[in-house]
Amino acid sequence: MDNILEVSGLNKRYGDFALKDISFYLPDGCITGFVGINGAGKTTTLRSILGLTNMVSGNIKFFGMDMDGNESKIKDRIGIVLDEGCFYDELTLSEMKNVIASAYKNWCEQDFIDYMEQFSLNPKQKINTLSKGMRMKYALALALSHKAELLIMDEPTSGLDPLVRSQLLNILKDYMGKGGKGVFFSTHITSDLDKIADMLIMIDGGEIVF
Ligand code: ATP
Repeated sequence: MDNILEVSGLNKRYGDFALKDISFYLPDGCITGFVGINGAGKTTTLRSILGLTNMVSGNIKFFGMDMDGNESKIKDRIGIVLDEGCFYDELTLSEMKNVIASAYKNWCEQDFIDYMEQFSLNPKQKINTLSKGMRMKYALALALSHKAELLIMDEPTSGLDPLVRSQLLNILKDYMGKGGKGVFFSTHITSDLDKIADMLIMIDGGEIVF
């Protein structure tokens, strides 16, 4: 089995906190849960491997390619859902989609329309009127509409009610069934992992525990 992500010797410091020699890999075909308590370093790890923080040392390979020099090629192949969801609040879902779609070579408008319908989202609604669950579903619809092979999500289930959480877990299973190569998501809700994760990576105090 090939690895879709390989991280080795990742180090990053924020004042007193540091990621220390983080190394792990994601095999092709797995849903991997990234677990750890609040402040363990999950978000910092995800942001670092995606090149969203500066001053990171270490080696990061997606799909066998170094992140350095291949960033845009790699990002075309990854769907990203970060907890803060960087959207312009005054835009409608459709207007914001136009901004984001233009950044992806393989944008598929029909997939987006289908996901919006499946998630009962109205393209004419404004971003700032979305509930937390709707916002997460919208971020997911965007992440899933450019033929991404790997989905990376930071705390997608946090703050969602049990029904929406269970819908999300089913969407992830469907995504893998439709040819997704991997899902990597951070959480501190371990019951979500029991339901769908094939693999677990645990972080504590900036270090991988297992
Ligand atoms: P949570 O489950 O609460 O989201 P986490 O495991 O994702 O936690 P991180 O957000 O990675 O944890 O935070 C790890 C540590 O890094 C914390 O001590 C946090 O204060 C610190 N940290 C994160 N971002 C920054 C930043 N931009 N500047 C300074 N310190 C930061």
